[in-house]
Amino acid sequence: MMDFFYRCSECGKQFDITPDRMVCPSCSGKQKSDEPLRGILEVGIEGRLKKDWDTFDLLPVGKKYFPPIPVGNTPLWEPKNLRKETGFERLYIKDDSLNPTASLKDRASYLVAAFALREKIDDITVASTGNAASSMAGVGAAGGLNIRIFIPASAPEAKRVQALQYGAEVTEVDGNYDMAYDLSLEYTKQHGSLSRNTAYNPLTIEGKKTAALEIFRQLCKIVGGTVGKTVGKTAGGAPDYVFVPAGDGVILGGMYKGFEDLLQMGLMDRVPTLYAVQAAGSNAISYAFREGSFRPDYSSNTVADSIAVDIPRNGYHALKYLKKYDGRCVEVTDSEILSAQRRLASTSGLFAEPAASSALAGFLKTKDEIPSDSKVVLLITGNGLKDIGAALRGLSEKNP
Ligand SMILES: *Cc1c(COP(=O)(O)O)cnc(C)c1O
Repeated sequence: MMDFFYRCSECGKQFDITPDRMVCPSCSGKQKSDEPLRGILEVGIEGRLKKDWDTFDLLPVGKKYFPPIPVGNTPLWEPKNLRKETGFERLYIKDDSLNPTASLKDRASYLVAAFALREKIDDITVASTGNAASSMAGVGAAGGLNIRIFIPASAPEAKRVQALQYGAEVTEVDGNYDMAYDLSLEYTKQHGSLSRNTAYNPLTIEGKKTAALEIFRQLCKIVGGTVGKTVGKTAGGAPDYVFVPAGDGVILGGMYKGFEDLLQMGLMDRVPTLYAVQAAGSNAISYAFREGSFRPDYSSNTVADSIAVDIPRNGYHALKYLKKYDGRCVEVTDSEILSAQRRLASTSGLFAEPAASSALAGFLKTKDEIPSDSKVVLLITGNGLKDIGAALRGLSEKNP
């Protein structure tokens, strides 16, 4: 049996995992309005993993509570043409656009929905720029939950329509994500609904770690390591480099958490080098990694709407991991993102949204600093059909 608890990422204080516990009460007291969240909670784990483990064994909610919808277990592609063109024979693509609502966000929604069902909570509220909203709406629908969404009116139409099709209550906010965020928290306070706001609800970080656990298991199968015991430095399921698109830094934090769990369980002997890929026009984490602190009053601007953030909610937590495991940041321009989008689609048959395509753009930009025999994984986080406007723009840049 495994034991799970919350642990503050700043002061280390521990708490039970309960619906009213979101951030550390003492560290969140230091919160300023224009900085990332303080007092982010991580899920701590105690216990020994059984030999024939699966990803549910490392999650703090029992398997029986998860809604009947096939989240995760997405394929790891071996992109032959891209391998040839780049000279990286061990390049892989983790295709999370193949989740039920077509983005990686489903991993977080899945765990939050399971937690709500276990705690007999019927209502979940989320503020989102798009994918978290459509994801929570879809996964919530499968769980029979009522989902309320606060979304900026500027969100791509497909993501809003998705949420409406799944039956969510959608409130369009005439303002940016920060306004939607504040309105959603006010609503959860008044109505006792569970918040799925990214980073604020610790289970959003924890849910996303399953992508890292799956990459490990899939590479073990391909490379021939053993899933159930310690593998050597160069063999087995540990990738060498993973390219992760980053906006709020929750996917990045979640990926690190997953690899750290595997390290703690003795299944891996090191954490891979993660590249946080950001748009040049939305580079808050990369800037803080370089300069030592976050900028107040920053305003993002990029075609990759899913990684466009002014204040990265999980900024401090993501930065802590980047420093601890010697991670790297890379910034890519909108034109590099749109070019990578076309290249991924035309060489591999994978049509990814701009934020997801940034993983390839970041790899193409930095590949000369990486040994070409490395195991490299590109994390593709969302489907291209979610933002046709951006994809059209990419085509006209190619043939102006
Ligand atoms: C949310 C999202 C991201 C970025 O995740 P963060 O946790 O905000 O860093 C990247 N790609 C897609 C498709 C997303 O929906």
